[in-house]
Amino acid sequence: MNRYLKLAILGAAVAGIVAAVGCAKTSQEDSTGSVSKQENSESTEPTVTKRQYKNPEEYGKVIALTFDDGPSSATPLVLDKLEEYGAVGTFFLIGDNITDDKTDIVKRAYEMGCEIANHSKTHSYMSKMTEDEMKQEIDYTTDKIVEIIGEEPKFFRPPYIDVNQQMYDTIDLTFICGYGCNDYDAKVEIEERVEKTLAQAKDGAIILLHDAEGNIKTVAALDKIIPELQSQGYELVTVDELFHTKGITPDGNSMYSEVG
Ligand SMILES: [Zn+2]
Repeated sequence: MNRYLKLAILGAAVAGIVAAVGCAKTSQEDSTGSVSKQENSESTEPTVTKRQYKNPEEYGKVIALTFDDGPSSATPLVLDKLEEYGAVGTFFLIGDNITDDKTDIVKRAYEMGCEIANHSKTHSYMSKMTEDEMKQEIDYTTDKIVEIIGEEPKFFRPPYIDVNQQMYDTIDLTFICGYGCNDYDAKVEIEERVEKTLAQAKDGAIILLHDAEGNIKTVAALDKIIPELQSQGYELVTVDELFHTKGITPDGNSMYSEVG
């Protein structure tokens, strides 16, 4: 390859990177760039107000939408939908997905009043692990979350809902399952996701959805799920708030799909 051709290719590659960075910047609130933002976040406490709960008797029907496997590029799209409809959700994060370029997404979710929870570090079957391996899976993700939002998660969703007694004994978080619609399967169409979710809706239910990379069918399904639930009189709350509305303290030896 001649030298000029090489230079031309290099030039095009650099232009591509600059264009990509330019795009990323325009979507941010200011022009300080991600590097200085990270420095800021290390030197200051997160400036967020925790969602204020009402008194339990002031709630009507409640339901908790939850999202597994993020943060990903689908997470901001889910947040856009929640914001549009004035709703909140709970995000169960995979530690290995919490890369530096995703911290702003997690922060945004928290600032919107959403809850951040633990979905392990590597998303593996955990029941065959040693106690130390289980602890590593949990502690890594909890530490990452604390770094970003300054608060420890309270809830854990076991990958593949694979649990055993040793996990309950070792992991000091409340286990959450929920009612799903197989939305991790790309073949499940939007309409089926909507119908199955609405069919399983009831007061106190935890709905299990996924904001995994590329899961735009669930993002689209939210456009029908959220307004329909709201028109049926449901208030969308976080998992922690769900326990609060029912006046129930979670116990450490069960897995919850509904509360109350
Ligand atoms: Zn998962």
